Amino acid sequence: MPKDFLRDAKDAYDVVVIGSGLAGLTAANTLARNGHSVLLLEQHYKLGGLATWFRRPGGHIFDVSLHGFPAGMIKSCRRYWNSQIADSIVQLKHIRFDNPMFSLSTTFDRRDFTRHLVERFGVARKTVDEFFDTARAMTHLGDQSMTAGELFERFFPGREDVVRLLMEPITYANGSTLEDPALTYGIVFSNFMSKGVYTFAGGTDKLIGMMDAELRRNGVDVRIRCRAEKIHVERGRVAAVTAAGRRIGCRAVVSNGNLKGTIFDLVGQACFDPRFIEEAQAVRLNNSSTQVYMALKPDVRLDEAECGDLLFTSTAPVFRTDLLLNRQVTSRTYSFYYPKTRPERNRSLIVSSTNARYEDWAGLGRADYQESKRRLVETTLDAVEKYVPKIREKIDATDCATPLTFERYTSHWAGSSFGTKFEGLAVSRRLPREIAGLYHAGSVGIIMSGWLGAVNYGVIVSNDVDAFLLD
Ligand SMILES: Cc1cc2nc3c(=O)[nH]c(=O)nc-3n(C[C@H](O)[C@H](O)[C@H](O)COP(=O)(O)OP(=O)(O)OC[C@H]3O[C@@H](n4cnc5c(N)ncnc54)[C@H](O)[C@@H]3O)c2cc1C
Repeated sequence: MPKDFLRDAKDAYDVVVIGSGLAGLTAANTLARNGHSVLLLEQHYKLGGLATWFRRPGGHIFDVSLHGFPAGMIKSCRRYWNSQIADSIVQLKHIRFDNPMFSLSTTFDRRDFTRHLVERFGVARKTVDEFFDTARAMTHLGDQSMTAGELFERFFPGREDVVRLLMEPITYANGSTLEDPALTYGIVFSNFMSKGVYTFAGGTDKLIGMMDAELRRNGVDVRIRCRAEKIHVERGRVAAVTAAGRRIGCRAVVSNGNLKGTIFDLVGQACFDPRFIEEAQAVRLNNSSTQVYMALKPDVRLDEAECGDLLFTSTAPVFRTDLLLNRQVTSRTYSFYYPKTRPERNRSLIVSSTNARYEDWAGLGRADYQESKRRLVETTLDAVEKYVPKIREKIDATDCATPLTFERYTSHWAGSSFGTKFEGLAVSRRLPREIAGLYHAGSVGIIMSGWLGAVNYGVIVSNDVDAFLLD
């Protein structure tokens, strides 16, 4: 008989949270701390969503999205999780760029970027200060008419090298483009520039393990391998969720799944106003990614000074968003993991990430797909050679992920790495006005995605749900 992953679950909860990405986990934890009964449903056998990891023989553990987040994560984790989690967050001090226009090392904060912009790129100090102040003043409620490209043109006209330094890491971090609203760039850029780039010491498995323990301490009923199949709406209100063939009553639902999947697959468009559906249909998905995972033999050490923690590389002569997405890969971002990441394992690993288009991978037959993956690994090893000579002799294990991998493990439409584009935020926020008790907390565009954005969006939405339940 198949295992019942909902065994002993209650017939009804105050809230059902669908999905255990960082936004879903944080919403569940905050709501339980506020005294509500919470059921957390995760379709996968692990919690974490894209904040995940996997093991390979030889004692290797690969992190999928632990490459760097802003310092704000420390405060959010202390306030909405616990101080043990917050205290494990440490700075990555060695961020590198290497492309045909420049090669440099930085601590990736305002002071060091100002130094580079003034001394190396020859930009006037006053212009740099004004640019930083303008970006810092942006909020998600601000003017959306100016694009990131126009912002750069205003401060650094004709300076493709400066634009590349300022934009390339943010495009990598959340898929934003020069055509997106400037505020989506400014908010994320300023978040990083406040204090630099941070990581979680101990790896994603440790973080999610600590979050799991905290959820259970706070009374969340956590269920893995439980896919929510349907959100039931009765008389304009959320009434229940069907998961693993069982209907579970609830007063509110927080969906952490893909925004479009929530509206069109879990609820169904017939439950919404046609004008809302039109708006939801127009929301664009964000791009997806490919990754190549490389584990070095146990006794091999990386040259930390040469590699750094994060290395943004490109062989393209200029910076263009479409080049970052092209299947003929010219840009790769490497995360180097030294034994200090998981001291008990004493391993060195490299993860190469590249933004990618779902459609470049989705249409391939089985043999072509396997061959494309093989080629992706081989061309990546060729590219790494510049930074880790004789890489092939040093490698113990490789693997790779494509947009189809991300789709399979998270059910994100088109394997989107960052949910939807920015316009998804307004649609996500409008859900409870369409259907009482229906909420979405998860990657929508640039501000509300990434590790910090997801955690913070989970908090914002749980406050809304809290107010709704107490009403
Ligand atoms: C390759 C890559 C690298 C990244 N690198 C970074 C980085 O360095 N720094 C950073 O800050 N961010 C990074 N990100 C982005 C970051 O990981 C995500 O923005 C963030 O983790 C998303 O959290 P989320 O809460 O939106 O949910 P997600 O992580 O998208 O999780 C959604 C969850 O919902 C579950 N689910 C969906 N449908 C159902 C259903 N019907 N029933 C039950 N469960 C369901 C899924 O299984 C999943 O667990 C990266 C992303 C990718 C893909």
